[in-house]
Amino acid sequence: MRETDGLRAGPASQQGMRRANLALVLGVIASARRSRAEVAAESGLTRAAVSSLAEELIAAELVVEEGPAAPSGKVGRPGTALGLNPEGPAGLGAEIGVEHLGACVVDLRGDVRAWRRQEIRNRDRRPAAVMADLAELLRRAVADAGLRPAGLMLAVPGLVGDGGGVLQRAANLGWEDVSLAAELRLALRAANAEALAELPVGADNEANLGGLAELWLGGAPEHFLHVSAEAGVGSAIVVGGRLMRGAHGYAGELGHVPVRPDGPLCACGAYGCLEQYAGETAVMRAAGLEGVRGDWVALLAERAEAGDEDVREALGGAGSALGVASAGAVNLLDPAEVVLGGGYARLAPWLLPGMRAELAARVTVRPWSDERLTVSRLGRRGPLLGAAVGVVRAIVADPGRLDA
Ligand SMILES: [Zn+2]
Repeated sequence: MRETDGLRAGPASQQGMRRANLALVLGVIASARRSRAEVAAESGLTRAAVSSLAEELIAAELVVEEGPAAPSGKVGRPGTALGLNPEGPAGLGAEIGVEHLGACVVDLRGDVRAWRRQEIRNRDRRPAAVMADLAELLRRAVADAGLRPAGLMLAVPGLVGDGGGVLQRAANLGWEDVSLAAELRLALRAANAEALAELPVGADNEANLGGLAELWLGGAPEHFLHVSAEAGVGSAIVVGGRLMRGAHGYAGELGHVPVRPDGPLCACGAYGCLEQYAGETAVMRAAGLEGVRGDWVALLAERAEAGDEDVREALGGAGSALGVASAGAVNLLDPAEVVLGGGYARLAPWLLPGMRAELAARVTVRPWSDERLTVSRLGRRGPLLGAAVGVVRAIVADPGRLDA
């Protein structure tokens, strides 16, 4: 979009044009440090327009001058490089897990400025009690970072759907129809975090946010399937660089794809779902560790590393089930990669052989190669990173939203 396009337009569309041009300029600056002249050349806007827009972005604390740009050899004042302001509006991420809570602050450049994780058993706790603990954790993370968040995104282990903000069901927490944003705001007010209670609050499934983190930070390709586990099994489908949400926002429920139609009864009411073979409860039972409390991923990894054959066999079986379900998804969607993330990343050495074997046997139209099955570097940090980074990406994509 160019400024000249708006010459004959009315005030409303001129405002829209300015908002679009702010986003255009900020997008160029976000991709790399640039002088005003370079921004003008890349954006196609005039030097005068860029200068005026840059002043506006500096006043909004989104952009800072970072000293002289590379010398151009021309006479006169050297161009000053513009960059995203690391002390400007920040992204606040929150996570409710079955066995933990998390809070994270990232700056406009996406760098983590505060990270807090609390191990706590949330299963069957009331939402208000969990939110009270989460509010306290968020308050502390924001104090650690010393930045001013512009939005809050919450990662939850359940179905959020299109409405955003309402958790339809989280079987592993025992929650149904919880108004996440409203509950969190109440808790933030009770924790004397008024400024945080005023923020725009969004919520999404943790598997979706883990997949987006993989896309934004993990170096994943444009088309991939991200398979992850916390207590349940989830996935994110990314097609052409965008998360595929489906008609109602529920796409990616790989945990409830059938592995064996005559298998065990699942919490969802169906039989033989993937979760009954590769979810926490199933793997712990198969390993002879049913009822053992604590961090199941760490426990299984430690025992497998120590050579525990029961644990290795249980993980091998989970890997085969993951391979069967993933092969179905690969045949349907043709992703470039299947990325093993979340808690599975740590367990990958024992899951991969079974997965590889099933993928090789079942993806036959275009033969499967093992290099297309990769392991996330972000692992369990993914969902919380995706939540916080999503907030700042939304600001950079449309800085005008901060005035709205
Ligand atoms: Zn199920």
